[in-house]
Amino acid sequence: MKTGGHILHIPKIEKGIVIDHIPTGHGIHILEIIRSHPEMKEVVVTLGLNYRSTKLGKKDLIKLEVQELTPRIVQHISLICPGVTIKKITDYEVDERLTVRSPQVVKNRLQCRNPNCITNHERHIETCFRLVDEQKQTFKCIYCERVFHLGELRPLIS
Ligand SMILES: [Zn+2]
Repeated sequence: MKTGGHILHIPKIEKGIVIDHIPTGHGIHILEIIRSHPEMKEVVVTLGLNYRSTKLGKKDLIKLEVQELTPRIVQHISLICPGVTIKKITDYEVDERLTVRSPQVVKNRLQCRNPNCITNHERHIETCFRLVDEQKQTFKCIYCERVFHLGELRPLIS
C-alpha cells in the first residue's frame, strides 16, 4: 500500500471488466443501464463509490464478472457518461483499455423533443441524431434538424 494522498483500496480482479473514471454519483446510473440489458441480469457486479482519483478528485468504479460488454451496452453508457474508461482485465492485468466517447450517431434510442418532428407522428420511422459538439453534448435530429442537449432528450421506451 502506498503512503501519501492517494491510497487506493481497490482489490484487483483476476479477469473481467472494470468501468473506471466514473464521475462520482454516476456509478448508480451506469449500474442501472447495465441492469437494464437482459444479458447482464445474472452477472456479478461490484459497485464502488467515492474512490480517490488523481484525475477526478473522486470517482466511482464498477467491476463486472463478464468477458466483454456488447457494443449496444457501451453505446448506452456513452450516452449517459462519456469519458469513462472500460478496462478488460486478464490475469489481474489490464489487457485492453477503451475510453468511451460520445457516439457520432444515435439511432432509435432517443425521442425528438420537437412536437412537429415527423418521428413523433410516424411510428415506423426510427429516430436518428448526429453528434454536433462532443464537449457540449449536443445532438441534431436528422429529420427536423433541431439541435438538443443530450440532457433534454428522453430515452425511447422500446
Ligand atoms: Zn426531430
